Amino acid sequence: MSDARALARAYLEQQRLMGGDAVVLPGEHPTSSPPPPPHLNGDARAPNPAVTAFEPPPPGLSFDPPAGDLFSTDPIQQAADLLAIDRLVADCTKCRLCESRTHTVPGEGPADARLVVVGEGPGRTEDATGRPFVGQAGELLTKILAAIELPREQVFICNVVKCRPPENRAPQYDEIAACTPYLFRQLELLAPKVILAMGGTAAQALLDTKQALGALRNKLHRFRGIPLIVTYHPAALLRNPNWKRPTWDDVRIARRLLDR
Ligand code: SF4
Repeated sequence: MSDARALARAYLEQQRLMGGDAVVLPGEHPTSSPPPPPHLNGDARAPNPAVTAFEPPPPGLSFDPPAGDLFSTDPIQQAADLLAIDRLVADCTKCRLCESRTHTVPGEGPADARLVVVGEGPGRTEDATGRPFVGQAGELLTKILAAIELPREQVFICNVVKCRPPENRAPQYDEIAACTPYLFRQLELLAPKVILAMGGTAAQALLDTKQALGALRNKLHRFRGIPLIVTYHPAALLRNPNWKRPTWDDVRIARRLLDR
């Protein structure tokens, strides 16, 4: 098989994983499942030869909120691991969102995750289950991660606010300010290689900016020195499928940063 044909098939498979229609290349049986290209086999952390010429996007914003110190009396700064953060969040009443929550949703994923995905806040299903990014938007996120060869189980997934805003409204400024210390401590403990901010709320909270999502995309930002890429929230993609293509561009950048 020619390289061009293999590349075309890999591209179409990635588009299908992102939610596009299945496309059958001429000469292939429509029901057959094509074998993955070589870089989809084996260890997802293996360098992909196709990315050796990767040019990162231009530098964007840097945000360096102060890290915790050994002598802090703040229990969030003293939290020694992710479970300790979960316990603090479970008892938290620092903002009004505690009044209507069913479950807190601190986030989930392995402590050694190299990619952290940050969304806005829990929705109805997340509030009911205590898990982030479940339901339709969560399924789409799982597909997006699969498209960059990252099983969801290898990624830490969380939100800016850990309790559901009523009627799925956007979290308000004071709620975000009250909750981000948990997120920042999680990121400090995780020390991932790349952060993917999904949606304007996550991007603005992590970069301490009011800039719109459109202005923040396609730049290599940094949070405490960690590369941070901004893209659309999966819930927004469900409303506007035209954003799938730019999202695909963004997550491929995140993947390439992981491969470096
Ligand atoms: S949203 Fe955050 S700050 Fe507000 S009550 Fe929940 S955990 Fe606490």
